[in-house]
Amino acid sequence: MEPLTGIFDTHAHYDDQRFDEDRDELLAALPREGVCAVVNAASDLPSARAGIALAERYPFLWAAAGIHPHEAEDAPADAIEQLRTLLAHPRVVALGEIGLDYHYDFSPRGVQQALFEQQLALAKELNIPVVIHDREAHEDTLRLLKRYRPQGVVHCFSGSAEMAEEILKLGMYIGLGGAVTFKNARKPVEVAAMVPADRLVLETDAPYMTPVPLRGQRCHSGHIRYTAEAIAAVRGEAPQTVVDHARANACALYGISESALRIE
Ligand SMILES: [Zn+2]
Repeated sequence: MEPLTGIFDTHAHYDDQRFDEDRDELLAALPREGVCAVVNAASDLPSARAGIALAERYPFLWAAAGIHPHEAEDAPADAIEQLRTLLAHPRVVALGEIGLDYHYDFSPRGVQQALFEQQLALAKELNIPVVIHDREAHEDTLRLLKRYRPQGVVHCFSGSAEMAEEILKLGMYIGLGGAVTFKNARKPVEVAAMVPADRLVLETDAPYMTPVPLRGQRCHSGHIRYTAEAIAAVRGEAPQTVVDHARANACALYGISESALRIE
């Protein structure tokens, strides 16, 4: 397999406790794996703070700050005010991840929806892109995205090609990760084939969503190569071409200057 360079992982969780043992060692090694940029997605306020702390230490890592639907029920009353402060940090490039999860339903749907709407309104007010989590909640997610019309990305996109069309019409990006390598991945593969080259971004969702053939291992940003290869095969492109387009798109999405990245 050809080594890939200039990999931009648009979505990872390096504040996750599964990295507690070797986080610094792992992050320090990522540039040698061809990774030039990572955005750490938050799950709640402490996670956002941890992501920002990492972004202050690693020049190739930026942070998103937001509250995941799983954590919606436990969000403090002043969550939006706390988020507003965190989003002002110079290393924070997006509000996320936010959205709806009707697969696990860890928070009641009404609570998820209310916090999602508050965060969408905040993103519009601050003119900052959003990172959207949508699991088995396509209809409500699309309805709210159409109402608020934020800029941003639908991460780990799991909808149909028809829904992808709707997301593209809204001017948003589509994030694809390890799921495109899974054996039963019909929908992500269809989406990988149809997304225009200027709207596709790559992600890991590390430590989750480890691509084939590494299933069972903890995922990290270096594993994107398998995802890029799968997408490239579907699109009839070279993996490095997919990586290069996705990096340019990720920079546009998050407002990061591509010329500032160190691509080795
Ligand atoms: Zn995530």
